[in-house]
Amino acid sequence: MSTRETVLEINLAHLTHNYEYLKSKLNPGVKLLAVVKAAGYGSDAAVIAKHLERLNVDYFAVAYAPEGIALREAGIQKPILVFHPQTVNFLSLIKYRLEPSMYSMRVLKEFISIAESLDQDRYPVHLKFNTGLNRIGFSKDEVDQCISMLNNTNAIMVQSLFSHLAASEDHTEKKFTLKQINAFKRITDNFTDQLGYKPIVHQCNTSGILNYPEAHIDMVRTGIGLYGFGNEAIYDKELKPIASLKSIISQIHVLSAGETVGYNRAFTATAETRTATIPIGHADGIGRHYGHKKGFVMINHKKAYILGNVCMDMIMVDITEIECKEGDEVILFDSDVTAAFVAEHAGTISYELITGIAPRVKRVFVDK
Ligand SMILES: *Cc1c(COP(=O)(O)O)cnc(C)c1O
Repeated sequence: MSTRETVLEINLAHLTHNYEYLKSKLNPGVKLLAVVKAAGYGSDAAVIAKHLERLNVDYFAVAYAPEGIALREAGIQKPILVFHPQTVNFLSLIKYRLEPSMYSMRVLKEFISIAESLDQDRYPVHLKFNTGLNRIGFSKDEVDQCISMLNNTNAIMVQSLFSHLAASEDHTEKKFTLKQINAFKRITDNFTDQLGYKPIVHQCNTSGILNYPEAHIDMVRTGIGLYGFGNEAIYDKELKPIASLKSIISQIHVLSAGETVGYNRAFTATAETRTATIPIGHADGIGRHYGHKKGFVMINHKKAYILGNVCMDMIMVDITEIECKEGDEVILFDSDVTAAFVAEHAGTISYELITGIAPRVKRVFVDK
């Protein structure tokens, strides 16, 4: 069951534009991996992935195995890297031809033993190295141990070596990022020397693609570049936001001074005030912090601030200065008033806003 009046509109033409824009930043032969984790950053991973597969993207990545299984079940054929596989999912990873990231000796050992028990021959895996993010990944001191594990089995092969930059969007952290890039180069040189064949090597995420063109190596990974939230960090105006969250005005009230709005009477009118009620609330992904005029919606190109507390299913906004009527369109964010802008206004970031839009908000797709 999804609501009809409130929709998340996904613009596939903008996705195509972003894909081609990012491709234009790459040297010939550099592969592009599309990160479609977290339901395609809140959109719809299967629809997005199918669209990108038609555009001939090279690789996909998801965070967890069930996300990859869902893509296979939707018919996706291209290779899928799973960033953070969990040992309980190793059997189904192989069943669905998903390629796990190995980030510690523990997971490497367990995966080799499962691959061997299933008689796999050179099953592709990706080795993740930690160069400063300190989240997941092997350390540089584990290279020799990895190599000897690999030399002792034919069940797996190293499809790629990768690392993840901690602050590629932050120009004040350039020195740190270059240190990460150099550390990764030392690791991969050492590793490939000992391995005897050449895996794909990659480290750049979207802001890495844009800010460190010299560090693309064999492949780059992009999530936010494809979704273009109007990212606060990247500031690349060429990337077009693909998602718009839209609703309508359900009802209009005219309040006299002294009347209040919503639960706990959190807003009190000091003069005659016109309010509009919009059918979107906490259960749709609008957090507490958007209340009390921290958040706003756009009605007929004007900002209408959220009055009092956000309710479970609705918000009330101030339309005293806005000409509008019941049924008029309400925009929570779109390509002009971006999710990044709206989220920042309420003290959060676009990731939280976009990935939190609940399944009951219908996803609609346009390609224009
Ligand atoms: C999420 C993720 C990405 C994509 O990052 P963006 O900044 O969205 O481009 C790339 N690599 C890894 C390991 C990730 O977890």
